[in-house]
Amino acid sequence: MASQIHILQTTFLSSIPKTKSSKLEPHSRKLTITASKFSNPFIAGRKLRAAVIGGGPAGSSAAEALATGGVETFLFERNPPSVAKPCGGAIPLCMLEEFSIPHELIDRQVTQMRIFSPSNIAVDFGKTLKSHEFIAMLRREVLDSFLRSRAQYKGANLITGLVTNLEVPVSQNEPYIIHYTANGSLRRTLAVDVVIGADGANSRVAKSINAGNYTCAIAFQERIKLPDEKMEYYENLAEMYVGNDVSPDFYAWVFPKSDHVAVGTGTVRLKQDIKVYQRGIRERVKPKIDGGKVIKVEAHPIPEHPRPIRVRGRVALVGDAAGYVTKCSGEGIYFAAKSGRMCGKAVVKASEGGERMINEGDLRREYLKEWDAKYINTFKVLDLLQRVFYGSNASREALVELCEDKYVQRMTFESYLYKKLAQGNRWDDVKMVMNTIGSLVKCNVVARKMESLVL
Ligand SMILES: Cc1cc2nc3c(=O)[nH]c(=O)nc-3n(C[C@H](O)[C@H](O)[C@H](O)COP(=O)(O)OP(=O)(O)OC[C@H]3O[C@@H](n4cnc5c(N)ncnc54)[C@H](O)[C@@H]3O)c2cc1C
Repeated sequence: MASQIHILQTTFLSSIPKTKSSKLEPHSRKLTITASKFSNPFIAGRKLRAAVIGGGPAGSSAAEALATGGVETFLFERNPPSVAKPCGGAIPLCMLEEFSIPHELIDRQVTQMRIFSPSNIAVDFGKTLKSHEFIAMLRREVLDSFLRSRAQYKGANLITGLVTNLEVPVSQNEPYIIHYTANGSLRRTLAVDVVIGADGANSRVAKSINAGNYTCAIAFQERIKLPDEKMEYYENLAEMYVGNDVSPDFYAWVFPKSDHVAVGTGTVRLKQDIKVYQRGIRERVKPKIDGGKVIKVEAHPIPEHPRPIRVRGRVALVGDAAGYVTKCSGEGIYFAAKSGRMCGKAVVKASEGGERMINEGDLRREYLKEWDAKYINTFKVLDLLQRVFYGSNASREALVELCEDKYVQRMTFESYLYKKLAQGNRWDDVKMVMNTIGSLVKCNVVARKMESLVL
């Protein structure tokens, strides 16, 4: 695996112009800062120095933007390239182009999506995809390692080490001190002007700045190697399952990976029962995975909403650390990379290419305001849809029934693949709303009738 990642990196990164990275000064606590609340003074004799904590999609994208824009950048990642973050690895089409991700990194191009209702009614959800459209499935170790290496090529100093503490200054004229362990046990510190917290759902940076908590779902996933003939079935097919047996408030999935499938589920409300729901999804897909061998079991929190505080002082949170995962789909990779890049660019802009000190107001204006203007509504709509459709078996039946509709399919895929609100037709929109209400009412009536028959 490590050698495969190395080949991918050298093949695709050699074409990218390399920027010279600066020499790291370990144990550095010295950094002269002249900051003021109202002005951004020039920095004499050096460049603005930023630390990005976490080398996932959010951190690497932030570091790449910072280094490209002239900021002295240090990217901290605790894991070596071969370690993967637990994840389904599905990304939308637009991310490949926007983040120049080589197609060779993709394991599977999913063109068929099948959704199963609580009563196991299956609906094919990819009928309206055009011939060039697909959902890209990648291994996170491959994607993360590529993005990290690219940030390094662009001039970021990559430090493989665990950040153990972020020392927050008491006055505006002092630096932030990063405490970290490198090479297993060497304790070191680094003084920086700006910190970007991209250290995921259990963010240490968020804790250090008292950014507050968010509700988390727990996601559980088993990687199962299937016999060849069974793997063929999942060649370009991803499956979603809804129902009280697989999750009280989310969906369960079977996603095809390079040489295995990822079978998993998630829940917010009943985290202690996650293994019960995992047994539920395994039961539903039993004939399709029989004879398979579990090669990995993993679990990880997924944030449910943005943190109360995402910027404090000269520290900003991005990706999962900030809470940017959409409800309904549990999608976070694209939003992590996007927020990282947006925040990195914001620092570059406010510091005029690393020449000036920045302050909290800059981060709020150039990053937070931009982010909220662009995405807050998307997050709100998906939150609402999750509440409406994942709440009971009756509404899940209605959801699957609606998925049959070609207009619903086109609107959903266009919004997912291209991350912009699909241009609909007013009459079809009205029909869609009526159908939604109709399906919800019908399925609820049927559910109540079933209940009265059972009682
Ligand atoms: C089971 C599961 C399935 C998912 N499936 C999908 C999917 O198919 N598609 C999708 O879009 N999203 C999916 N998500 C969500 C997605 O994984 C996250 O939203 C995404 O990884 C967020 O990226 P990030 O860079 O913000 O954080 P992360 O990917 O969590 O990266 C954080 C990085 O910081 C490092 N780090 C943490 N603490 C420290 C420290 N103290 N010092 C140094 N380094 C540190 C970590 O090692 C890690 O590399 C899934 C999540 C789960 C749990």
